[in-house]
Amino acid sequence: MDKVVYVCTGTCHAEVSDKEYEEGLTKCGTKDCTHFGHSFEKVLKCHECGAYFKPGDNHSHLA
Ligand SMILES: [Zn+2]
Ligand SMILES: [Zn+2]
Repeated sequence: MDKVVYVCTGTCHAEVSDKEYEEGLTKCGTKDCTHFGHSFEKVLKCHECGAYFKPGDNHSHLA
C-alpha cells in the first residue's frame, strides 16, 4: 500500500508522517524555506519508487 505523508512544497521539501501531522506538526518550520509557516500538503508516497503523488492521481508501475 502507498503511504499517506505530508510534505512541504517549498524549498525545504520536508516530509512528515500522518502520525506526526496528527500530533500537531502541520506547518513548515524551516525558517529559510519559501513556504515557512504554510500548511503541509497531503500526498501519497509510492512504496516502490518513493515518488509523491496526489490522492486521486494515477500512479502505477503496471506495464
Ligand atoms: Zn518548507
Ligand atoms: Zn512509483
